Amino acid sequence: MANVGQRVFSGVQPTGNLHLGNYLGAITKFVALQAQYQCIYCVVDLHAITVPQNPDELVEHIREVTAAFLASGVDASKHIVFNQSRVAEHAELAWVLNCVARIGWLSRMTQFKEKAGKDRENASVGLYAYPVLMAADILVYRATHVPVGEDQKQHLELSRDIAQKFNVDFAQSIAARGFGDAFFPLPEPLIQGPAARIMSLRDGSKKMSKSDPSDYSRINLSDDADAIAQKVRKAKTDPDALPGEPEGLVGRPEAQNLVGIFAALDERSPAEVLKEFAGGNFSRFKSALVDLAVAKLSPIGAEMRRLQADSSYIDGVLADGADRARALAAPTMASVKDIMGLLH
Ligand code: ATP
Ligand code: MG
Repeated sequence: MANVGQRVFSGVQPTGNLHLGNYLGAITKFVALQAQYQCIYCVVDLHAITVPQNPDELVEHIREVTAAFLASGVDASKHIVFNQSRVAEHAELAWVLNCVARIGWLSRMTQFKEKAGKDRENASVGLYAYPVLMAADILVYRATHVPVGEDQKQHLELSRDIAQKFNVDFAQSIAARGFGDAFFPLPEPLIQGPAARIMSLRDGSKKMSKSDPSDYSRINLSDDADAIAQKVRKAKTDPDALPGEPEGLVGRPEAQNLVGIFAALDERSPAEVLKEFAGGNFSRFKSALVDLAVAKLSPIGAEMRRLQADSSYIDGVLADGADRARALAAPTMASVKDIMGLLH
């Protein structure tokens, strides 16, 4: 394996409506990993444009995601925070990897099938190639660890396949240039805990998503206490009492989801949460969940608003992060060109 340090990379799309799933499934993990790794956290604007975006809103959403990172405790001075389109090597490596990845591999990606829906012929080429750009995002830093929610597991496996194929296809050239038996490390997914897949509050079979048309499906980081209370009270449940053990939640996706959210917000296991609420009805549980969610999220929402009021500060953080990201990405891209025989 190439001798590179352990490095974390992950990204969030600036597609608006940043929600509890993004926070618990991704951003809180970003924060925790800073103690152990060198971390690169990216606002992936080139991913956002795989579906239509309003330019005026996109700019604000890039700042919003940045504010969410900072408000949640990402340290942009010790680590790197930037927006993807500023570092051209992401798109450049993505092209190279488009020539490594196979059409058959991409055709199996369930996110494309879900997002393209019935009108697949009319989806952008970018939406189809999205997972290759994601592989480039990770590999351009030769990152070793990638914290993501469950929904990104398949894309991460594809990133590993692409890295592996590059290493095999160019094995001789890689070895001849002193990179040993592999140029790209195979990135490890970090997907764990009760928050790896937060479901919609309206439908326990669908993940909570920025792109869900119903605002009642998700708790947004920008929601105030009243909005959070309303959404939790309206959240779908079932008529049964809460069970004493997690096994009792099997086949009850909405109940399981709310207990999982409670557990993740309170940093406890679902089993511990159930011990407290066993036998009770949902109204007491939901009131406790509202109090907990408001206590955890409102300071973050307030800090986000404070940061977003000063866009020049946020823009400065992103520009500085991009400079440092580029300094890491450029040598990778130069080595890729050497390995492939692209004169530069
Ligand atoms: P979109 O609907 O635009 O794809 P999204 O809600 O899926 O938005 P992304 O920006 O695609 O958000 O994902 C950012 C990170 O949040 C990824 O690591 C993803 O796995 C994670 N994530 C997204 N939704 C959830 C969820 N419901 N539960 C846990 N993690 C999630
Ligand atoms: Mg997504």
